[in-house]
Amino acid sequence: MKGFAMLKINEVGWIEKEKPKCGPKDAIVRPLAVSPCTSDVHTVYEGAIGERTNLILGHEAVGQVEEVGSLVKDFKPGDKVIIPAITPDWDAVESQMGFSQHSGGMLCGWKFSNSKDGVFAEFFNVNDADGNMALLPDNVSVEEAVMLSDMVPTGFHGADNAKVAFGETVVVIGIGPVGLMAVAGSNLKGAGRIYAVGSRPICQEAARKYGATDVINYKEGDIVQQIQEANNKKPVDKVIIAGGELETFEQALKLIRPGGIISNINYLGSGDYIKISRLDWGVGMGHIKIIGGLMPGGRKNMEYLSNLLKWKKLDVSILLTHRYKGFEYIEKGLALMKDKPKDLIKPVITI
Ligand code: NDP
Ligand code: ZN
Repeated sequence: MKGFAMLKINEVGWIEKEKPKCGPKDAIVRPLAVSPCTSDVHTVYEGAIGERTNLILGHEAVGQVEEVGSLVKDFKPGDKVIIPAITPDWDAVESQMGFSQHSGGMLCGWKFSNSKDGVFAEFFNVNDADGNMALLPDNVSVEEAVMLSDMVPTGFHGADNAKVAFGETVVVIGIGPVGLMAVAGSNLKGAGRIYAVGSRPICQEAARKYGATDVINYKEGDIVQQIQEANNKKPVDKVIIAGGELETFEQALKLIRPGGIISNINYLGSGDYIKISRLDWGVGMGHIKIIGGLMPGGRKNMEYLSNLLKWKKLDVSILLTHRYKGFEYIEKGLALMKDKPKDLIKPVITI
């Protein structure tokens, strides 16, 4: 079969590979819609998780089941399914402890385009299929549903980890598709004021649609100063980091209140250390939590989040600025995610 792969750090291309095999708990799925991700860009062009050779990329897909293993109970060939980017082993002890993302070790629930071939292929393997696939609701398009693989659950995980509550003031640093979903998630959780930090007008406009009350452009001056001014010098309750570099943590610490939460969902692709200012961290006694999280995978999360699309509580169509038809457009889609032209939020490719 054909696949679009990371050949090595800094190099991508089309390759031929054998069709994946189906273990007893697995499914083999044919993609119907896929979307390239900024994470693929970190992996390939920053070598952020180390060298990978001839590894098929992609982890965001909706597909049709081709084959299921003998132990799969709830799915059959022909079913249209949403597959989360993270596909944990549900019997691992880490999953039992509530950290399925880390089943088998740090980040090991992230398999596609990390430890096994991803979804940019004619066929791909889904491990633990009963635990990691969800049926596509009838009234949700495959293009929109593919945003459930990663963008919605990641952004919402940022809001979850920040424990956003009614009326709170939340800053979201970075409003690409992931940050936009953190804005939407915070809004759905009842945040009062939401500051959205980004420079591209298309993302700023989308942020307002998703519930941002204020837009801050980091290219027009220090964001700490801009937000403090707008917020009458009061600290904010929560900061969600979904873009920018390592200094965003220092900025977040300057903005947050005692007892506040800084929730990172950004994939930190480069640099070695995050600086934590002793004073801003309340000389070690400020009760300020810093948490970073890979999105949780699994079926139940997909089922819950797909309800938001099914019942029109969340409109992800705003994210889909570039739509293509045809497997070959995967290459173009990834190039767009790398170059981030002004009019781009997220590309989607239907197959
Ligand atoms: P984008 O590149 O589309 O968005 C990044 C955002 O950050 C943009 O709004 C950009 O602004 C903004 N930004 C850039 N530099 C700065 C800065 N110095 N200060 C403040 N804001 C800045 O990325 P995505 O939304 O696609 O993804 C965001 C991150 O989430 C990526 O690192 C991705 O790999 C990661 N990710 C994490 C997952 C997880 O499970 N935790 C899963 C999926 C993705 P603008 O472009 O407007 O100038
Ligand atoms: Zn992704």
